[in-house]
Amino acid sequence: MTPGDATRPPALSPRAIEESRRVSAGVGDELDLLLADLEAWVNIDTPGGAIEELDRLAAILANTVERYGLHPELVPVRGQGLYLHATLQGSGRARVALLCHHDTVFPLGTAAERPFSHDSRRVHGPGVADMKGGLAVAVHAARLMATGPRPFALLEVVSASDEETRPAAPLTMERLTGFDAVLCMECGRVDGSIVSARKGGRWFRLHAQGRPAHAGVDPDGGRNAVMALCQEALRLSRLHHARDDLTFQVTELYGGEGLNTVPGKGFLTGDMRAPTSADLDWALEHVRAFGNYDDIELRWEDLGGPPPLERTPRVAALARAAIELGARLGHEFTETSTGGVSDGSWTAWSGVPTLDGLGPVGGDDHTPFEYAERSTFATRAGVVAGLVAAIDEGLLD
Ligand SMILES: [Zn+2]
Repeated sequence: MTPGDATRPPALSPRAIEESRRVSAGVGDELDLLLADLEAWVNIDTPGGAIEELDRLAAILANTVERYGLHPELVPVRGQGLYLHATLQGSGRARVALLCHHDTVFPLGTAAERPFSHDSRRVHGPGVADMKGGLAVAVHAARLMATGPRPFALLEVVSASDEETRPAAPLTMERLTGFDAVLCMECGRVDGSIVSARKGGRWFRLHAQGRPAHAGVDPDGGRNAVMALCQEALRLSRLHHARDDLTFQVTELYGGEGLNTVPGKGFLTGDMRAPTSADLDWALEHVRAFGNYDDIELRWEDLGGPPPLERTPRVAALARAAIELGARLGHEFTETSTGGVSDGSWTAWSGVPTLDGLGPVGGDDHTPFEYAERSTFATRAGVVAGLVAAIDEGLLD
C-alpha cells in the first residue's frame, strides 16, 4: 500500500488497538502518580542555561524512568546540561523515539510564585504544557508499555535540555538515525489537534555599508545606508504571501551614527516562514537579488533557521492512525499545521517520519495562564502506545 493513500483507512491491527486501550487505561488508573511526577518536575524551574537546575531535573528524570523499567543514560552536551536518553527493549522490529524537552522559558523563582496546581479539569504551573506535561505522557506511556507485550524493538524517551534556546538541531539527534519514527510530545493544540506540519523558518541579516558625511556641511558627499535599507525593506515585504502560506516580516532595522550624520552603515533582519523547503529556497533567491545603490555595498548574512516539518505521506499515515486511535478511546481530535517550531522539525528534516503535538491538550504556552487538560494525559499515552504498535506492524512500510 502507498503510505498516505487517502482512500485507505490506516492499517490498525487489533493488537495495536488493544495496546492503545491497555496503556490508556493503565495510565488513567495511575493518574495520581503521573500528576505527582509532573508536580515534582514543574516545581523545579528549568530555564535554558540554568545548568545546575536542568541537571538536577535530568537526574530526577533518569531516576524515575529507571524505577519504571527503562535504561536511562544522561548525555552531556556542550554547555547545555544533560540530555536524557532512556531506552526500553522490546520483542518487535520498530525503533521509535518519544521526543521531549525539560527546559522551559520561565526564569528561576517562577515555580515558587505559582507552583504546580490542578483542579478537576486542568493542571497549571510553569511548563505544564510546554512541555513537562508531554514528558509525563511519554514517561508514563513507556512505564505501561514496559509491563506489556512490548511491540517494538526499541522505544527511546529523549529529553533535551535546551530546546527553547537552541536555533539548531538537538545535539544528540544522530542517535535517532535510522529510527522508524519520532513522536514529538509537544502539547496538543487547544482543540486537541495533533501537529502534522510545521512551517520552516529562515532568518537573515542584510548589511549596508555606505559613506558617512556631515548632514549639514556635506550632505551629498555621503552615501545613505539607511535609505538603501528602507528600499530593500519595501522590496522584501512583497514576499509576504507571495506564495501560499509564505510569510515575511522585516523584524529589525538599525542604522545611523548620529542625528547630524548621513548614515554610513546599517542592517535589517528578516524572518521568513514557509511550509516547504522549496518555498524557502525560492524566497531566498529573491532576498539575494538586491538592488544597486551608488557606492553602497549590500552584504547578505545567513542566520539559519529551522527546517519545515512537511506532511509527507508517512507523516499523513501517522496522523490518520493517531486520529483513529484517539477516536477509539473516545478522544476526538484532528490534525493541524502551525508556524511554530519544535525539535520535531529537525528530526523530520533528518529523514525520520515525525508526528508532533502528542502531549496532553493544552495552551497559553509561555504565559502565566499555561494549562493542560487533565483528562487527556491517559488518552494521549494510549494514542502513543497504539502508534508504536501500529508502526511495528508496518504502518509506514
Ligand atoms: Zn516545547
